[in-house]
Amino acid sequence: MAILVVEDERKLVDILKRALKGERYSVDVAYDGEEGLEKAMKNNYALIILDIMLPKKDGFTVCKELRQRQIHTPIIMLTARGSVEDRVVGLDVGADDYLIKPFGLNELFARVRAVLRRPKTTESNVTKVADLIIDRKKHEVTRAGKVIPLTPKEYKLLDTLISNPGEAINRRQLIDHAWGPTFKETNNELNVHIRYLRSKIDSGKNKPLIHTVRGVGFVLKE
Ligand code: CA
Repeated sequence: MAILVVEDERKLVDILKRALKGERYSVDVAYDGEEGLEKAMKNNYALIILDIMLPKKDGFTVCKELRQRQIHTPIIMLTARGSVEDRVVGLDVGADDYLIKPFGLNELFARVRAVLRRPKTTESNVTKVADLIIDRKKHEVTRAGKVIPLTPKEYKLLDTLISNPGEAINRRQLIDHAWGPTFKETNNELNVHIRYLRSKIDSGKNKPLIHTVRGVGFVLKE
């Protein structure tokens, strides 16, 4: 997965590059807003980390112009501590999340994972695997035509799994999405909620859809 970092502070760029590469992302860099905009339009990145204070074009403008051009690559904005307005404007112009400088690498990784796992809003509101259907507009899940009532946690877990069908989703990614990046399990919460979810989705069915991937997490597939 390729990430574009748009930031003019070379020191920070070096740190981000090394850290993200260590997590096995491939990293591309732009040192000003114009270069960032160009690269973001030309290449298909999984994520853009975009600073606000940039030479030539600021981060807000870059974000706005990308969204106007129907480029919906997820964006995490970097903002200076305490500037609440920056955060609000950032989310208004179409950023997905923000990080306040200075930030720890663990916080960065957690945000990156969370944003990458978010179901893509540009994709269809309806996803179907076998006879299981999630309709995000109606916030409704059905299997074989029958509506299945889910709790908010179960819904988020299912949404994460069904957005990546056939792909093993690791435990941390599921927890990030359903509980948030800072959540620490104390009572095996993930297994408990997956068990509830399974009993609603799969019990009494010939073909179970939610499967355990040992040592990793879970996968939804036929
Ligand atoms: Ca800067």
